[in-house]
Amino acid sequence: MNPAEIEPYLLSIMPGLGVNKMRELGRLLYEIAKRDGVLFTSILPPGEKWNFEKAKNYLLKKRYPVNYKNTPRNRFYLPKLELDPALEADLTPRPFYPKTVYIEESVQHSALAKRVENLFPRAKFLLTDGKTQVGSPNFSRRTDTLFIHREKYDFLKPCPCSCAAAGCGYNLINLGFGCRFECEYCFLQQYQNLHAVLLPANVDELLAKIDGASFNKGLFERPRIGSGEFTDSLVFDDITHYSRQIVPFFKKRPHLQFEFKTKSVNIGGLLEEGGAENVVVAWSVNAEPIIRQAEHFTPSLSERLAAAAQVVQEGYRTAFHFDPVIIYDGWQQDYARTAQALAEAVPADKVAWISVGTLRFSRELKKMMENRFVNGRLLDGEFLLDFDGKMRYSDAQRVEVYRYLVPLLKRLFPKTQVYLCMEDPAVVKTVYSV
Ligand code: SF4
Repeated sequence: MNPAEIEPYLLSIMPGLGVNKMRELGRLLYEIAKRDGVLFTSILPPGEKWNFEKAKNYLLKKRYPVNYKNTPRNRFYLPKLELDPALEADLTPRPFYPKTVYIEESVQHSALAKRVENLFPRAKFLLTDGKTQVGSPNFSRRTDTLFIHREKYDFLKPCPCSCAAAGCGYNLINLGFGCRFECEYCFLQQYQNLHAVLLPANVDELLAKIDGASFNKGLFERPRIGSGEFTDSLVFDDITHYSRQIVPFFKKRPHLQFEFKTKSVNIGGLLEEGGAENVVVAWSVNAEPIIRQAEHFTPSLSERLAAAAQVVQEGYRTAFHFDPVIIYDGWQQDYARTAQALAEAVPADKVAWISVGTLRFSRELKKMMENRFVNGRLLDGEFLLDFDGKMRYSDAQRVEVYRYLVPLLKRLFPKTQVYLCMEDPAVVKTVYSV
């Protein structure tokens, strides 16, 4: 489909159509044609006399068959279609090997800087004062640049959750920025303005701040501190060895619990350190078709679960995040299969918590996703502007997902805390009101 041909086509059947009206109808035609794999010229039945209102109603009904009837018009988001082929994601598999490594002068003698020098001898190494802007203008080239730095500010904070969502009381530590996986829904592709991988070399200094901090327990029996907001917690652990600092630190602080959140199977450091009851290694999991189609370069579900079984055997607890849940034909069976696979992989009493969250994204992220993954299927669902300005499935669709998955997970993991992530308090109340 050539999107540039949509506007001339619309003008040919509705001469004089204004710019904004064209924008809305053009977006609807594009999204329907892409979702259904049809020509955009075949969507509006020929022989009709079309005007803007009639065409928009017809197309909204076709684009949002589940939600059209009960949704106020202002919740359908129909921005101008702006596709830039230069933004398309590079999905060629390659090992992580940065071309340029910047090292901040103050950490040039750190163990991490030395390790990186040994691991990537063919990279170009540059010392910096920490103020230089590093990285590529293209997000897809972010792994070409590695920046070893001294983190000074943004290390420990309460989870920002989402404005007005029901929080769970999570506390976050920041173990770097950037990832080498390519999940189609990843918020970093819109959020990260420095297109590089940043790894702090002063995690020891940062961990020392934990002792003086006060924490919110939220939904949990002990304060829960986790990593994995701006990067996958373990994806670079064979390089950083952060787990070898973090596990011994938390072993001495049983009143706290720490969570690594990952899709990787990079568990060598954890296995060498030996397990700790208050260290939880959590895997993000999904229906297998979603892992295959939208979580590029990540290990399969069975590889993730084999790693989970190993860390549990070593004495850690595990956790799972069903996030983001995607609605498609047959989602129920596929997610039930994933839940069953979890239950077969690890003993239920070793699963500390399970979160469930449906796909949500900002308007800016939608634009990035449709540019980077032109043939991606995630955006084919019915997403509406929601209570916090993000886009989500309708309340009714989300409640259906949660009312299906939460009881199913509770049956398989009766003693595990199962909670909803970044949800509207009203949806949470409805889910648990039966
Ligand atoms: S694993 Fe996490 S941080 Fe990495 S690309 Fe996927 S969603 Fe983003």
